[in-house]
Amino acid sequence: MNPNDKASEWRAPGAVVLVSCYELGHQPLAVASPLAFLREAGFRPWAMDVAAEDFSPEKIAKAKFVGISVPMHTALRLGVEVAAKIRETNPACHICFYGLYGLLNKGYLLENGGDSAIGGEFELPLVKLVQGLSQSSEKLDVPGAATREHTSGPYLEKIPLLKPDREGLPAIQAYAHLVRDGVHYPAGAVEASRGCKHLCLHCPIPPVYEGRFFVVPQDKVLEDIEDLAAQGARHITFADPDFLNGPAHALRVARAMHERFPALTFDFTAKVEHLIKHEELLPEFKEYGCAFIITAVESLSDLVLGHLVKGHNREDVFRLVKAARQARVSIRPSLVAFTPWTSAQDYFDLLDFIEEYALIDEVDPIQMAIRLLVPPGSHLLDSPHMKRYITELDAENFIYRWEHPDERMDKLHQEALTLVEDAATRQEDAAVTFARIRELAADILEHPGQAQPKAAFAPDRIRPPRLTESWFC
Ligand code: SF4
Repeated sequence: MNPNDKASEWRAPGAVVLVSCYELGHQPLAVASPLAFLREAGFRPWAMDVAAEDFSPEKIAKAKFVGISVPMHTALRLGVEVAAKIRETNPACHICFYGLYGLLNKGYLLENGGDSAIGGEFELPLVKLVQGLSQSSEKLDVPGAATREHTSGPYLEKIPLLKPDREGLPAIQAYAHLVRDGVHYPAGAVEASRGCKHLCLHCPIPPVYEGRFFVVPQDKVLEDIEDLAAQGARHITFADPDFLNGPAHALRVARAMHERFPALTFDFTAKVEHLIKHEELLPEFKEYGCAFIITAVESLSDLVLGHLVKGHNREDVFRLVKAARQARVSIRPSLVAFTPWTSAQDYFDLLDFIEEYALIDEVDPIQMAIRLLVPPGSHLLDSPHMKRYITELDAENFIYRWEHPDERMDKLHQEALTLVEDAATRQEDAAVTFARIRELAADILEHPGQAQPKAAFAPDRIRPPRLTESWFC
């Protein structure tokens, strides 16, 4: 084929398709951002988000390139199922897995249906790969894009970010909403930074970003917020891995957003260590509309926190909850309730903490069933404390399996997971779910004295604001 004809075929509408499977219930930024880059480069990509719409074989049938966004484990599990459907519909198209989990699992993915894998600051390698494929049939060597012929690490150059282009994605009304005082408000997600300067051992970001983070220019963040507000967003999630990696930038962005859109509320994620270090900023964030903050408490055991290199200890957690209460900002701890070092007593300790600090509506019950995830490439694999518990690589499920030395803990994890999934389906009151988890734990761990909750919660209590999507990694 004449190269010009080939290039123009690739520039036809739908020749490039970007697919999202799961992005924590948000309209996917990891599709909106590369859509902008591809459109600027002259392509006319389509988008599909199977979290909010049906898989469309028609959209895929004529695609030459399909990029599947896999920023997290759940997205990758779903992404490989979608890739199989894409192959059935269109065996010849190039399939690229991009995002954190694409690169961490490139070995398996490139042997099982994927043609390339990109991680880190993925937009430029993605565009360069599409451009290269549209012009040549040679085996391409694009920095940042791993293929069967060319290996590559993550792309970690600072790129000139564009405003994400959300055209072609389902409207934000199809996604997670903020619930405040029983009223649902549309919510959108933006990024003010990417990557992370920390190296917590269990986190999938350090194996890709290795302690680097990139700031998104304030004007780009605000333009994106403006777009979302025009779509009807009443609440913004700052989806940065840690909003306070650059605290001055975070504060400027929040202040500027509040000045331009005073009715918007927002939430962000930040580590305990940062929130304590910048405790004095909490009232200011509150003033600018902060509805809640998610923070990775993970555990109250100093042994567990030490093995994960979290940078905080048990006392820091108590101090933070008190500071947040004082600033009247809701704090939503995320947990890793099951690790090889978590004892039965640690598990009850977490339940006591949630009840005694009245966090029952700020900790999603699923958090009490989260088990330490060890993906390929995880820095935990280098830890002698972890190694002894690893049993095997389960490549198909993108994890290393490990066993708890007390088999009752593994049994409790399984049954707690079933319990909370069932409770979520029935939209059970969180206080009831926590009471049932406690009973279950008392039974399995043979601590009958722990079966009774330490505090009572009225069914008609006032709930703090939250998003309708529980957090899944
Ligand atoms: S857990 Fe949070 S602070 Fe730690 S490396 Fe990951 S994103 Fe950074």
